[in-house]
Amino acid sequence: MRKSSPSTARRDSLRRLPSVDRLLLTPAVQSLNLDLPHPMQVELARDVLAAARAEITTGKGAPSLDELAQDMQNAAARLSLPSLRPVINATGVILHTNLGRAPLSQAAIQAMVSVSAGYSNLEFDLDAGARGSRYTHLVNALTASSGAEDALAVNNNAAAIFLVLSALAAGKEVIVSRGEAVEIGGGFRIPDVLAQSGARLVEVGTTNRTYVEDFTQAITPATAAVLRVHSSNFRVVGFTHEPDLAELVGKAQQHGIPVIYDLGSGSLLDTAAFGLHQEPTVQETLAAGCAVVSFSGDKLLGGPQAGLIVGQGNLIDTMKRHPLARALRLDKATLAGLEATLAHYRKQEALSHVPVWRMIAARPDRLKRRARAWQRAITAAHGHLLRTDIVSGESAIGGGALPGETLPTWVLRFSSAARSSDWLAKQLRVSNPPLVVRIEEDTVILDPRTVLPEQDKAVTRALTTLST
Ligand SMILES: *Cc1c(COP(=O)(O)O)cnc(C)c1O
Repeated sequence: MRKSSPSTARRDSLRRLPSVDRLLLTPAVQSLNLDLPHPMQVELARDVLAAARAEITTGKGAPSLDELAQDMQNAAARLSLPSLRPVINATGVILHTNLGRAPLSQAAIQAMVSVSAGYSNLEFDLDAGARGSRYTHLVNALTASSGAEDALAVNNNAAAIFLVLSALAAGKEVIVSRGEAVEIGGGFRIPDVLAQSGARLVEVGTTNRTYVEDFTQAITPATAAVLRVHSSNFRVVGFTHEPDLAELVGKAQQHGIPVIYDLGSGSLLDTAAFGLHQEPTVQETLAAGCAVVSFSGDKLLGGPQAGLIVGQGNLIDTMKRHPLARALRLDKATLAGLEATLAHYRKQEALSHVPVWRMIAARPDRLKRRARAWQRAITAAHGHLLRTDIVSGESAIGGGALPGETLPTWVLRFSSAARSSDWLAKQLRVSNPPLVVRIEEDTVILDPRTVLPEQDKAVTRALTTLST
C-alpha cells in the first residue's frame, strides 16, 4: 500500500472534521447540556472547528468527537467567565498596580455592598430633608485622620493633582524642582499635567540638588504655588539636596504662596516602624504647613481607588466649585469604601484590619509556616517530579510607594526537570482562580505575604492540580 503524502493526510483529516450542525448533534456534545442559546452554541462550535482546522494544517491529526466535545466544554466554561475577575497575588508585591493595588478590608467591602444595593443619602441631608452634598461624607473622616481643615476626594490621585492645579494655578506659574518634574508611570508626567491644567511650569534647581533659594528667587507676581512631588518610583542617591519642607513652606508663606505636595502613596502610619524607609505621613506634611496635600486611596491607605485632597478650607472650597470637580467626582460605593477604610485608622485598628497593613506587619515566622504548608501539599501531590524548597526572600511594597524598599519574607520555590518555569507559571495563571507568581532564575516563587489567608486553600488546590 502506498503511504499517503502529508498533504493528502491533511486533506483526509480536514474531511473527517464534522460540520457545525453534526458536531452540535453528536451525543458527546449533547450530553454536555450546554446552557447557552443556540446561536451561541453555533458560534462556539465554529470556533472549536476553526481551531481544529488550524491544528491540522500544522500537521496534527484530526481530533476525535470526544476531544471536540471537550474543546466545546472548555470554550463554554471560558465564555461564562467575566473578563475582570479576582486573582491570587503570590508575587510578594503588596501594591501591585497590574493586580488592582490594595485589597479592601471586610468593613470597606460591606460598606460598598450595602450602599450599592439600594438607595442612599448620597446627596440628601436627612436632618433637613433637603438636597445635600456628596462631598460631606468624607470630610470628617479625612480631617480627623490628617488634621486638615477640609478635604475633597476624586477619582484618583492623578485626577486630584489635575484638579488642584486647574483650580488654583490656571493661567499662572507653578514652581517645581527639576528633580521632581517626573513621570509617575503610565505616561503621567508632571510637566504634561501642569500644561493641561493651564498652569505654567517654572523649573528650578538641578536634577540632583535644589535649595530653598532656588524656589524663592523664582517667585514672581504670576506665581500661584510651589509644587512638591514625592519621588515615589525612583530614588536619587549620592550628591543630592532637597530643601527642608518646613523651611520651604516658611519662605513661600512670606510671599503668600501656598505649597502643594503630591505625596503619591501618602501614608497615615509610620512606615519606619516596619524597618522601612520613613515615608512622610499626611499628618506631618500638613503640620509642616503645606496648604494642600494629595494622595491615593488605593496605595498605602489601603482603600478603593481614589485621590484624596486635604488642606486649607478656602483652597479646598475653590476646588469644590471648579467644574472639573463634577467631572472627577466619586461614586457612592467608593465613598462608602473610603469612609470605612478611614474608620480603621480612627479606631487605631488599621494594622489588624486593613489588608495592606496586615501584609506589611506580617511576621516572617508566620509566613514561613504558610509557605511550608504549601510545600507539603505540592510535595504530596507531585513527589519527586518537582524540586521544592523554602528560602528567604524579599517582598516589595510596590505601587510607587517606597521604591527599592523590601520586607524580609519566606517563599516557596519550585522547579521541574521536565517543564520550564514559564510553563508552570502559565498553568497557575490559567487555573481558577488564577494564581500569579514570580519567576526568578528559572524557578517559580510564591510569597505568602500577599496571599490573603483565606486564599491559602485555593493556592493549595492550584499547586496540587498543577499538571507536571
Ligand atoms: C501613584 C502616584 C500618582 C498617581 O496616583 P493614582 O492614584 O494612581 O492616580 C501621582 N503622584 C505620585 C507621586 C504617585 O506616586
